[in-house]
Amino acid sequence: MKIGLIGLGIMGKPMAKNILKGGYTDLLVSDLNQAAVEEVAVCGAKASSNEEIGRTCDVVLTMLPNSPHVKSVMLGEGGVASFMRPGTVFIDMSSINPVASQEIAAELKAKGVEMLDAPVSGGEPKAIDGTLSFMVGGKQEVFDEYKPLLETMGASVVLCGEVGAGNTTKLANQIIVACNIQALAEALTLAKMAGVDPGLVFEAIKGGLAGSTVMNAKAPMMLEGNRKPGFKIDLHIKDLNNALDCAHSVGAPVPMTAEVQEILQWLHNHEGGQKDHSAIAEYYEYLTGASLAC
Ligand code: NAD
Repeated sequence: MKIGLIGLGIMGKPMAKNILKGGYTDLLVSDLNQAAVEEVAVCGAKASSNEEIGRTCDVVLTMLPNSPHVKSVMLGEGGVASFMRPGTVFIDMSSINPVASQEIAAELKAKGVEMLDAPVSGGEPKAIDGTLSFMVGGKQEVFDEYKPLLETMGASVVLCGEVGAGNTTKLANQIIVACNIQALAEALTLAKMAGVDPGLVFEAIKGGLAGSTVMNAKAPMMLEGNRKPGFKIDLHIKDLNNALDCAHSVGAPVPMTAEVQEILQWLHNHEGGQKDHSAIAEYYEYLTGASLAC
């Protein structure tokens, strides 16, 4: 199987390496960043162009920032789709608006190309380990054929419905993560202001009903004042914008999403866009003057 992967950023680069490790060695890669292309080429991939990937690959993968990037790479003038043959497949692993996934799939269908939207959860550490969670939308038979390829990068690969369902699932994931982080920052700030050590609050409650993967990952970062991004504020703003767009288009009420989005936007406006999303704690620090960092 000849595979093309476009987008070798924080996520795409380790994912490319895991595809190679998984035994899919006929891998062509491209990115605007040549240093990333060279790093993956050293591991056995072939540095390529979008045109060559479109002309020659059986399956084209993308791992790009957002809907406009995927649309322009695939459907723009001289885009990959213009070179793809009927019967080939496109799998977009970026987190984008599900409506955009459906629009791209419709244009590709007219060319005889099937599409899966397959965004991931897990961040850079799980991209490196090959233990990402894939949320997939598309036809069952296309999913069945390409599931082993996705399993080279992920520990969990679940078909959630038709095209767009993968990204709708990812939006749900991002709402839950953002609201959890906000609740955590709010609760630990309350404890601090009430004179109880927030570190002890975390220790006491993490094994109970309030405990979560988000709490285990983000409470220590808040307590240490560590803002090094696993997941950047600006990327979370992008995801929640997509969630709000999607919610407005289907008439779903999302007041919690709207509130946490305003807080993320405040952080962006205060030079926090490149910080980890656990920097939501800084918004509460701004409101109260109480810092969680010991
Ligand atoms: P990134 O910004 O590190 O990487 C994006 C890459 O796309 C860059 O290397 C960039 O040069 C390349 N690119 C942009 N436009 C291009 C074009 N026209 N042609 C070729 N290459 C182009 O982003 P990332 O963190 O790797 O995230 C990628 C996607 O995965 C996003 O949708 C993000 O929301 C999602 N995601 C990220 C994480 C995370 O923790 N970083 C976790 C889950 C999902």
